[in-house]
Amino acid sequence: MRKLSIKKSENIKIKCPFCKDKIPSNATRCSHCTADLSGKEAQDNIEKQLKHRKKNIIIGLSFLGFLVFLIVIVVATSPSSNTPSSEEKIAVNIKDVFAPNKNDPYSVVLIIENKNSFDWGDCELKLNNEFKTKMQLISIGNNEVPLISFARKDGTFFDIRKYTYNSFEVQCKKPYFDVQKYSY
Ligand SMILES: [Zn+2]
Repeated sequence: MRKLSIKKSENIKIKCPFCKDKIPSNATRCSHCTADLSGKEAQDNIEKQLKHRKKNIIIGLSFLGFLVFLIVIVVATSPSSNTPSSEEKIAVNIKDVFAPNKNDPYSVVLIIENKNSFDWGDCELKLNNEFKTKMQLISIGNNEVPLISFARKDGTFFDIRKYTYNSFEVQCKKPYFDVQKYSY
């Protein structure tokens, strides 16, 4: 770290040790009271004033650094208000849910209705607001969704024999879903 030092100069003003008027720190004679400032006592006084000023500058810089640190923390932790939410709910019409395999009532096929083909990757499907499944399929439009199972929090699966679907929701974490809304 570089040492911060204040050198005597024309621009750095101090108080005359004798009359207390402002004079340049490199003056050898006070321009106000004409006192000789080259003596040891006067020079010691001037050094003391410069040291005190240096201390104040260090305290000021530390405080400034702390302020910058605080601002960085505040900016980094506050939620950005002008970026759109990357988690957007999309309403997709579900035309049918069925289990093609009678021996496996938990693996269902969804017939969904949406006009565009889009990437389902990184999406979560929610059935009846409690059964969820994570989608990792790509580009399905106007199509059936291949066999998937919906699990509930308690570990039980959506059973086609027991339940009828009454709501269906897709939640994706991809930004481009912000502009695609599906509603019926
Ligand atoms: Zn003086």
